[in-house]
Amino acid sequence: MSRASDAGAAPRGSRADKATSRALVGTTVVDYFAVVDPSDAGRMTYWRRGAGGLLKQWPPKARYGPILLRSGVPAGLAGQARQEWIAAWFERHSLPWHAAIRESIAADPDSGRARFAAFTSRCCMCGRHLTDPASKVYGIGPECRDGWSADVLAHMAELIARTHAERS
Ligand SMILES: [Zn+2]
Repeated sequence: MSRASDAGAAPRGSRADKATSRALVGTTVVDYFAVVDPSDAGRMTYWRRGAGGLLKQWPPKARYGPILLRSGVPAGLAGQARQEWIAAWFERHSLPWHAAIRESIAADPDSGRARFAAFTSRCCMCGRHLTDPASKVYGIGPECRDGWSADVLAHMAELIARTHAERS
C-alpha cells in the first residue's frame, strides 16, 4: 500500500500526514548531522537543523563544545573586567568551534547525514529510529526517502558503508 493513496485517511497530525505534507511541499523541514568534535577527534557531536536553518545540538540537552565553568574564570576578576574576560573567552573558544561545525556540515552535508544515521541508527531527515535493513543501509526511513532517486540513495548507502568501515 503506497503512502500517497492512504494519506487522505490519516488523521491530521499523524506521522503519515506530516510526511505527506513534507513531500508535497518538497522541502526538508529538519535534518540531522554528525560531526567529529573539532577539538576532540575521538568524540562525535550530533546536530539538528530545523526549518529556519538554525543548527541545534541533538539531543536537545546535549552539551557539545567548549564549556566555561565558573571555576574557570580567574578568581580575582570582578564587574566589567570579569564580563570582558568571559566575552573574550567565548570569542576565542566557542565562536571558532561552532564555526568549524557549521563549515564541516556546509562542506559535505551528505557525509554529515550519513554519519548521523550510521552512528545513531536514526533517519537523517526526521531523527526517527530506523528498523528495517534497507533503511539502515540508506540511513533514511521509507517515508523520508519517498521520491528520492536511486542514484542519490546509492550515494547515501555508499557514505553509510564508508562510515561503518571507518568505525570498525
Ligand atoms: Zn525519516
